[in-house]
Amino acid sequence: MLATVLIIAGILFAASLLRGLLDAGTRPTGGTSGGGGGTGSQTTTTGTTYANEDYTPPPADLSPSSLPGPRTLSAAEQLVTDNPLYAQPVVTPTNCAMGPLDMVNSSRGAMQTHLNDLMGCLMRVYDEPVTQAGFEMPRPPVTVYDQPITTACGDFNEVNAAYCSGDQRIYYARPLLEALGSGASTTDYAAETILAHEFGHAVQARTAILISEKVLEQQAGTEAAAMDYSRRTEVQADCLAGLYVGSVAQSQGLGNAELARLSGLMYNLGDDVLSGQTGYSASHGTGDARRAWFERGVSTPRIGTCNAFTASADAVR
Ligand SMILES: [Zn+2]
Repeated sequence: MLATVLIIAGILFAASLLRGLLDAGTRPTGGTSGGGGGTGSQTTTTGTTYANEDYTPPPADLSPSSLPGPRTLSAAEQLVTDNPLYAQPVVTPTNCAMGPLDMVNSSRGAMQTHLNDLMGCLMRVYDEPVTQAGFEMPRPPVTVYDQPITTACGDFNEVNAAYCSGDQRIYYARPLLEALGSGASTTDYAAETILAHEFGHAVQARTAILISEKVLEQQAGTEAAAMDYSRRTEVQADCLAGLYVGSVAQSQGLGNAELARLSGLMYNLGDDVLSGQTGYSASHGTGDARRAWFERGVSTPRIGTCNAFTASADAVR
């Protein structure tokens, strides 16, 4: 169980992806598991004006272009600390016109349809800022699995959720919420928030943050320094998920009580909470850190608030 949940919401790299980015010294890359200006606003009967109502999400991209990456170490440093994405706001508030789905008892196919529809809502929030920052944002396909599957990032036989940079797809294990426990399966929008974290990794990948971070992580010298980079990437994805949840909160019926439960979900994904070891911090960060970065995202449309790469070490424990 412990080994299972420790890699929840991880990023998985295909070994081939990083080849060629570094001349030497690459360690094995098996599995690091682990408001914008939208146009076309429309006022609803409740008086809310939603942004980007005339946006039509593109279909899932099964053969996206290659991910951008840095040419030098200093470029990698610049891309994580001063990425053009940070100057952009997300589109908010947006109308994610989706109903809820029982993410415990529904069929694999129903969950897969639901989570692929969710990608459309995420695209409505993120396509514009990523494009405005000078990058492309293909829509990631989502695969829901309940049997071990083989992906571009290797065999998935864990109960997990992951973004795979090798095929630019998102994977979600059908039993995930039940395996998590701690009330995750009865928390509104829990699976959607976890998928928003994975979509956050897709945003990082498309804006060169992900490969840059991986390069820096591999050059870090010590395990502790590498873990620090990993945590900055993970809490940034938590924050990017928060930006999305903030954008759709009203249209998805997420009030203060529901948002507080989602903060609790993020806390329960902390390295210390999952391991049961007080103060333990590894690849993803403590519950306190994960919750804090998620809440930062919910509180503002500014993507720059998610710049975890210039935060103090204490903020990314
Ligand atoms: Zn992650």
